[in-house]
Amino acid sequence: MSVNIPEIFACNVFNEEVMKTRLPKNVYKTFKKTVRYNEPLDMTTADVLANAIKEWAIEKGATHYTHWFQPMTGSTAEKHDSFITPASNGMAMMEFSGKALVKGEPDASSFPSGGLRQTSSARGYTAWDPTSYCFVKEGSLYIPTVFVSYTGEVLDKKTPLLRSMQALSKTAVRFLKLFGNDRVTQVTSTVGAEQEYFLIDKKMYDQREDLILTGRTLFGAKPPKGQELDDQYFANLRPRIAAYMEELDTELWKLGIYSKTKHNEVAPAQHEMAPIFTTSNLGTDQNELAMEVMEKVALRHGLVCLLHEKPFEGVNGSGKHNNWSMSTNDGQNLLDPGDTPMENLQFLTILCALIKGVDEYADLMRLSAASAGNDHRLGADEAPPAIVSMFLGEELDAVLQAIENDEVYKTEAQAFEIGVDALPSFPKDSTDRNRTSPFAFTGNRFEFRMVGSSDNIACPNVLLNTIVSEELDQFTEILEPHKDSEGFEQEVKKLLKSVLKEHRRIIFNGDGYSPEWVKEAERRGLPNYASTVDCMPHYTDEKNMRIFRKFGIYNQNELTARTEIHLEKYSKTVRIEARTMVEMARKQLLPATLGYVQTLCTSIATKKQIGISSVTEEKIAGKLSDLAEKFYDSIERLDQRINEANKVEGIQKQSEFFHDRVLAEMDIMRSIADEIELNMPASQWPIPAYSEIIYNV
Ligand code: ADP
Ligand code: MG
Repeated sequence: MSVNIPEIFACNVFNEEVMKTRLPKNVYKTFKKTVRYNEPLDMTTADVLANAIKEWAIEKGATHYTHWFQPMTGSTAEKHDSFITPASNGMAMMEFSGKALVKGEPDASSFPSGGLRQTSSARGYTAWDPTSYCFVKEGSLYIPTVFVSYTGEVLDKKTPLLRSMQALSKTAVRFLKLFGNDRVTQVTSTVGAEQEYFLIDKKMYDQREDLILTGRTLFGAKPPKGQELDDQYFANLRPRIAAYMEELDTELWKLGIYSKTKHNEVAPAQHEMAPIFTTSNLGTDQNELAMEVMEKVALRHGLVCLLHEKPFEGVNGSGKHNNWSMSTNDGQNLLDPGDTPMENLQFLTILCALIKGVDEYADLMRLSAASAGNDHRLGADEAPPAIVSMFLGEELDAVLQAIENDEVYKTEAQAFEIGVDALPSFPKDSTDRNRTSPFAFTGNRFEFRMVGSSDNIACPNVLLNTIVSEELDQFTEILEPHKDSEGFEQEVKKLLKSVLKEHRRIIFNGDGYSPEWVKEAERRGLPNYASTVDCMPHYTDEKNMRIFRKFGIYNQNELTARTEIHLEKYSKTVRIEARTMVEMARKQLLPATLGYVQTLCTSIATKKQIGISSVTEEKIAGKLSDLAEKFYDSIERLDQRINEANKVEGIQKQSEFFHDRVLAEMDIMRSIADEIELNMPASQWPIPAYSEIIYNV
C-alpha cells in the first residue's frame, strides 16, 4: 500500500484550510477574532459556521454529530445525535444549528464529579472549544468541547487546561516585554507526547481475564529471556507490526495528527509513536484520539494494544513522554537558548523560573502523573523514580554554576558572561541525554517523563503551565521596575543568583535509577511520594491552592473534588484487580494445580501397583500440594481484605487501606501463583505464559 500523505493528511478535519475555503470571508474573520480574543461567538456567526461544518461533514459521510469531551473518568465521552429533522412533506432534512454546535446538555449524573454535582441536579453543559478542530470519524462529526456543571464548575480535563494556557499567555507576554519582546501578544504552551504501548496477539489476550478486566497481567512467572539482551530497542519491525504501524499512521494522518516517529521500544512487544508537537490543547485532543485509534487498528490486525503502564511485571512499563515548551505568536520557542545575548538572557531567566517552579511545586508535578497503574512503573528501575528532579546537562549546568559563583563561563571557543556574550550552542541531539531523569532539558524543550502511558496529558500540562505562570509573574514583579534601566542585566543576574542558590537542589544530572539517588534526594530534602495515596492529599496544600486560585485554574471545591475523584479511582482500580485475582485463582489456577496433583497421584498409585518407582511424581506432587495450600490461604486472606477495605470510611483512609493491605496481599498471592506456574507443565497451566504472550507477535 502506498499512501499519498499530503493528499490524505487531515482529510477528516475541519481545520483552517477548510474554513478558509468553506466559510464566507466575514464569518471566517469573526471566527478567528473569537478565537484570538477568547470572545463568545455570536449566534448568527454560529449558525453560518454550523451549516458549513454540517455540509462538509455530510460530504465526508457523517450522519450524526457528537459533542466530544474529556470527563474525569480518564477516557473521552460522546453522545451521538443525527442531523435528521422532519420535513413538512413527511421526508427528512439534515439540519444543524449554531446552538447545537456551541452548546450541549448531556446528562452529567453518571460522570465522576467528586461531589460537585448532586445527582438530583444532573445537568451538565458541554461547550464548543473553537481552538480545537472538529473532525469526522466513523460516520459522526466530532465537536471538541469542555464540560462544566450547571453552576459552572469544571467536570472535565480540558477546561483547566484552557484556563492554564490563558494564564500562561498573559503572564509570559508581560514577562517578555522586559526583554524587549514588545511584538509578542500571545504565548502558547506546546506539547509532543511520545506514546509507548504494547501489542499482543488477541488470541492470547482473550484467554486472560486479568488483561481483559484490568489491562495488566496479575499473574505470570518471569520468562527465561527478558529484555536483558537489549535486542528489541529500535530493532527491525516484524511484518505484522510493520503492517499495524502503517495503518495506524494512515488513520492518524487522516485525523490531522502528525504521527512522525515509530519504533520498537526496550521491552519485547513494546513500541512507540511520537507525533510532531502542537499546542497543548490540540495535543491533548490528539493524544486521546491517537490512543483510541491505536486500540481500534490493533483489533483489525488480530492484535490488542495495551496502554496500561505496567502490563507485565519484570518487563519495562509504558510511559508518555510529555515534551513541553512555549511558543510565541511571532514564532519564538521560549526554551530555545537562541544566538544573541539578549535571547540568552531571556532563556536563562525562563530556565531559572522553571528551576524555582519545579523545586517549589515538585509535589504537584509528582501528583500530575499519579495513578494506580503508574505506581507500578515509577521507580521500578526503568522509569524515573517518584522523586522529582531536573536534568540540564553538563554544559548548561556549568553556565548556571558560573552565574551562581559570579564567574565567567568559559568553553574552548568563547568566554561567556551573562547577557554579554552568546551562550555556547547546545547539543540538540541525543549526545547529551539522561533517560533516568523525570524532567530533562533536551535542547529546546523539557521532557516530562513521569506521565503514565494511559493517562490524559491535560493534568501534567495544566500543572506545568500554572507553575510557570506563577514564577514568571514573580520574576516580572521583581524585574519590571528596572526595565529599560542600565542596571537591568545586573538585576537579572542578582535574581538568577539568588534563585539558583536556593533551588539548586532540584537539579540532578546523575543516575536517577540508582539507590544512592534516593538517599541523596532525601538529604537534599526533596519529597519522595512513592504512591498515589501518598501524594494526592498535597493537591489541596495551601501553597498549591493559592496558585490555582490566583490564576483561576481551580477553586477550592474543584480541587477537593479532583483529589477525591483520583483517590476513589485508585481504590476502585485496586478493588477490581484484587477481585479479578481471587476469581482467576479460584476458578482457574487452583483447580488446575489440584487437577495436576490428582493426575500425579493416579500415576503414583498405578506405579505402586506394578512396583516401579514413583519418586519423581511424589516429589512434584508434594511440592505442589504445599504450594496449593499456601495459595488457598492467601486467596481467602485477599478476599477478606477486600471486604475489610470496602468497610473503611473516608476516601483517603480507604485508598490507604487498599494500598497498604490489599495490594500487599495481592503481591503475596502472586508470588505463590508464579511459583506454582514454574512447577507445572505448560499444557496444564490454564492461562498463556509471559513468554507466549510477549514473544508471539
Ligand atoms: P526522543 O525519542 O529523542 O525524545 P522523539 O523524536 O521521539 O525524540 O520525540 C520528541 C518529541 O518532542 C516529539 O513529539 C516532538 O514533536 C516534541 N517536541 C519537539 N520540539 C518541541 C517543542 N518545542 N514543544 C513541545 N514538544 C516538542
Ligand atoms: Mg523520547
